[in-house]
Amino acid sequence: MPQTAIIWLRRDLRLQDQPAFAAATKIADYVLPLYIHAPHEERPQAGAASRWWLHHSLSSLRQELRERGSDLFLDSGSSTSTLMRWAQANSASLVLCTAISEPWAEERDNKTAAELAQAGIELRITADGLLTDPHAIRNRSNTPYRAFTPFWRQVRGQLNPPQAKPAPTSLPPPPGHAHNSSAELEQLNLLDRVRWYDKFADYWQPGSTAASHRLARLSPEFFAAYPDERDFPAQPGTSLLSPHIHFGELSIREVWHQAAHSQPENHSGPANHSGVETYLAELGWREFAYHLLTQQPNLHSYPVDRRFAAMPWRDDPDNSLYSAWHLGQTGIPLVDAGMKELWATGWMHNRVRMVVGSFLVKNLRLPWQLGEEYFRDTLVDWDLASNSMGWQWVAGCGADAAPYFRIFNPVRQGERFDPEGEYVRRWLPQLGALNKKQIHQPWTAPAATLDSAGIRLGKDYPWPITDLQSSRREALEAFQSIKG
Ligand SMILES: Cc1cc2nc3c(=O)[nH]c(=O)nc-3n(C[C@H](O)[C@H](O)[C@H](O)COP(=O)(O)OP(=O)(O)OC[C@H]3O[C@@H](n4cnc5c(N)ncnc54)[C@H](O)[C@@H]3O)c2cc1C
Repeated sequence: MPQTAIIWLRRDLRLQDQPAFAAATKIADYVLPLYIHAPHEERPQAGAASRWWLHHSLSSLRQELRERGSDLFLDSGSSTSTLMRWAQANSASLVLCTAISEPWAEERDNKTAAELAQAGIELRITADGLLTDPHAIRNRSNTPYRAFTPFWRQVRGQLNPPQAKPAPTSLPPPPGHAHNSSAELEQLNLLDRVRWYDKFADYWQPGSTAASHRLARLSPEFFAAYPDERDFPAQPGTSLLSPHIHFGELSIREVWHQAAHSQPENHSGPANHSGVETYLAELGWREFAYHLLTQQPNLHSYPVDRRFAAMPWRDDPDNSLYSAWHLGQTGIPLVDAGMKELWATGWMHNRVRMVVGSFLVKNLRLPWQLGEEYFRDTLVDWDLASNSMGWQWVAGCGADAAPYFRIFNPVRQGERFDPEGEYVRRWLPQLGALNKKQIHQPWTAPAATLDSAGIRLGKDYPWPITDLQSSRREALEAFQSIKG
């Protein structure tokens, strides 16, 4: 009897170098690609920007599948019972999927596998999405790593990911398949009613076709310049691949090889190793984040350094400090520019993520979990492991975090990494007429300069909501109080 395999799609929304598709085309006669929307199973649930991306990524994958004579079938509800229903309706005894290395998903998948097995259906889960097995890496004392540098020293030397495999050319769907029971994409209700995300389409094109184009454009010159340019938010110095990587629109192996084998044209000597290695190490940080997540499933909400659970955060009874932060109205230009970039594009430059995070947690002394939650809702690249690690790093309470007493001065950060004020000018055009020094601290500009620039502080742009020096001192005192 012909075999039908269901491909349960999740964070692997592509056809090329996709282990589940590759296996299915070898062992089954018919392939049924299925996406099940089950937000109640996610812990924590993905936010609105991430769901916007998912909606469009599914639409793009559906298109690609249709071009190959197949389709993307959609459903929602409990993963186990939905898979059971689809398997029985299509006489499929095999479900293939790739792993999501997040604690809630691993738990859910194991349970699903056990329940399907009782009905005679095999769930086969293949590793994917990471270059390492985050559970398997151990240091010499046979314990997981808590610091990036030794982690990467061990892992880097062993990494030799296989070359990416092409997409299957044909994917025959089962004859008389349960086509009618597929939901329409809109029925999954991935998009918020308030269409604040519409502007994202000016900046992004979700889906593996666009992802592959973006990857292909990363030239040897890009990698060579990466170490110098990646910290300057006004420059196009980073790859902008994070949402594509998160949703598995690219395989992480493809990304690795694009960097590792990059070589400038007419270049006969060795590749520019420092640029390539710096980029690969960033992929390494992502691996490390997943390694940390295996050690602490509640990484997004509980500090790795337990002392920080007793941190005396500042009272913000009417949420005015938090509101000013997330609305980009703190009066500190680099912080506000970052929050405007996030709101407009669903993404923020890494340097600025660190600056806005430090300002929230240290200058405003508000809990880092508020920032984690806000990013979760507004980042198109929201990723449980990377976001949790990023926030714990910024707050100084994570494994291998920046020490709490190292507090970013957002004015100095602006002067150093946005020296012409170009980034601030892009997102805060009302400050555009100030010179490169004043634009990072408009409150120091003479009244006549502000006047001729058409800026009334407190009206066109806020006064700083906190004094950077005294809030820094208070943050250090708060830290002293939990240090013992
Ligand atoms: C507070 C905070 C929150 C963050 N939240 C997220 C998040 O939710 N999702 C996310 O993907 N990244 C997060 N990051 C990491 C980093 O900011 C983004 O990965 C990066 O800005 C994405 O842009 P890019 O693709 O152009 O990066 P590039 O510089 O081109 O890097 C290439 C890839 O490496 C990975 N990477 C780079 N830096 C890091 C890092 N520090 N940690 C983990 N992976 C990294 C990403 O997959 C990225 O796409 C966060 C950082 C901070 C400080």
